[in-house]
Amino acid sequence: MWSFLETLNSNMLNLILFGPPGSGKGTQAENLINKYGILHISTGDLFRYEMGNNTPLGQKAKEYMAKGELVPDEVTIGMLKNKVEANPGVNGIIFDGFPRTIAQAEALDAYLAEKGTEVTALLALEVPEEELIRRLLMRGTTSGRADDQNEEIICNRINVYNTETAPVFDYYESAGKTKRIQGVGTVEEIFDKLVAVLDEVYC
Ligand code: AMP
Repeated sequence: MWSFLETLNSNMLNLILFGPPGSGKGTQAENLINKYGILHISTGDLFRYEMGNNTPLGQKAKEYMAKGELVPDEVTIGMLKNKVEANPGVNGIIFDGFPRTIAQAEALDAYLAEKGTEVTALLALEVPEEELIRRLLMRGTTSGRADDQNEEIICNRINVYNTETAPVFDYYESAGKTKRIQGVGTVEEIFDKLVAVLDEVYC
């Protein structure tokens, strides 16, 4: 690990934390940034921040988020690039909840290539659907997120994931960049599996 951390200075570690809603991406992203000292960008968090401040971007995102639909690509990609530009000189980035469409993946690859870097790996958290619904409904009791409190909207988010987002896995699979991780167990157990995968890839 060690050598891996050293290489971060010259080579960015750019990870896509991938998986359906409720698979634990946000929780594990927090653990990973603490360990590897890289930037966490969650497009869902960015949209919620904009919504909370009632900005034009937030107002635009709100109608889609309320239904569990994806915010249009051009809006999302523009916001993502602004966030990256606002954090120059980072050692790497964890993309959480992005890319969610093939168009977003292509835009991300082109953007990183312009910057002389690339996606290092896509880490896919795999969790059975009943467990996702259980977790999201439980999170809805504390998160204050309207989209976590209604089973119909939760199911729509999972359907949108299956139809629009799952193909992003295949896109990076064909580039040999994917790793699958069973996302069931304690937070620590899953984190250990993520670290083991990163060690295996980079040691
Ligand atoms: P999340 O916090 O990742 O579950 O995202 C919550 C909601 O924000 C999603 O259901 C979408 O409406 C929107 N959203 C977040 N990330 C994206 C993205 N990459 N593309 C389009 N919409 C997104």
